[in-house]
Amino acid sequence: MTQTITVIRGDGIGPEIMDAALYVLDAMRVGLQYEEMDAGMVALEKHGELLPAATMDSIRKNRVALKSPLTTPIGEGFSSINVELRKRFDLYANVRPAKSFPNTKSRFPTGVDLITVRENTEGAYIGEGQSLSEDGETALLTQKVTRRGSERIVRYAFDLARSAGRKKVTIVHKANILKSTSGLFLKVAREVAQKYPEIECNELIVDNCCMQLVMKPEQFDIIVTTNLFGDIISDLCAGLVGGLGLAPGANIGTEAAIFEAVHGTAPDIAGKGLANPCALLLAAGQMLDHIGQPQNATRLREAIVATLEAKDSLTPDLGGTGNTMSFAKAIATRI
Ligand code: ATP
Repeated sequence: MTQTITVIRGDGIGPEIMDAALYVLDAMRVGLQYEEMDAGMVALEKHGELLPAATMDSIRKNRVALKSPLTTPIGEGFSSINVELRKRFDLYANVRPAKSFPNTKSRFPTGVDLITVRENTEGAYIGEGQSLSEDGETALLTQKVTRRGSERIVRYAFDLARSAGRKKVTIVHKANILKSTSGLFLKVAREVAQKYPEIECNELIVDNCCMQLVMKPEQFDIIVTTNLFGDIISDLCAGLVGGLGLAPGANIGTEAAIFEAVHGTAPDIAGKGLANPCALLLAAGQMLDHIGQPQNATRLREAIVATLEAKDSLTPDLGGTGNTMSFAKAIATRI
């Protein structure tokens, strides 16, 4: 059976890494058809808007999108296209795995295998109620956390633990100081955790969590937290295992799910064929898990690891002399 997904090639290195990712997916014969849609600068130039209605319709219809990085030009209506997509599709769960891989310039070449599940739609990060007093002396921001928002993200984290065979969920908060917002998140998280007695659950205050991540990251399995803490923690985790070139992310809602590389458009290397396609490929792995093809997701991840282990055709960011396509071809031969 074939499934159609929306493919957004994006800006900068986006088209190059997407070619590489689709090459590997095609080699795997996973039964995907691609509906290519525009967003970002390409869309602005072709259609006069950053997020054309046709692209939104395609994501709504297919419910799954694989997306390269996009440029949001300053002064074009949104602060970020990615944030806009999250809002429009209510993509409430941001899921960022961080795993040690061989032959990466990383602080933890082994031992890290964790997933950050970040609430994506509320809290301080969305910048609600921002204002600056007339005299420029006082700035304000509203932070809203809801029972519904907290419940669905914590449920998502525990369901993920169940389906992925993970053992532990760590609730990360700052309820000792942010008693209302983080307090509500923690209260609801404790209630949800009780419904999953087979999954170990612990709680950590966010500052302690950051220290523990740097000192003993192997103790973590799944982390669930609010929007701003999750934003910071997930980049910290990417840094532990070798940076953004190997960091995938998924934005998941009830109506749609968008899978992407965490890095940006890398204008400094765009068009040179030097970009590392791994982050987008690992995001494709998350997508295969999501659409009910976990065995193919494992095949893909194992082929990536084997290629890294063999140091075969790696891109310059990983110390190799290969290019985007030679790396993808080396992965495809190991599928
Ligand atoms: P943007 O504004 O789109 O976020 P940026 O340049 O600020 O772009 P990134 O695109 O994430 O941020 O790039 C940060 C650095 O990491 C750059 O030096 C870039 O070349 C490098 N980089 C990012 N992604 C990759 C990749 N896939 N392969 C190799 N290098 C990468």
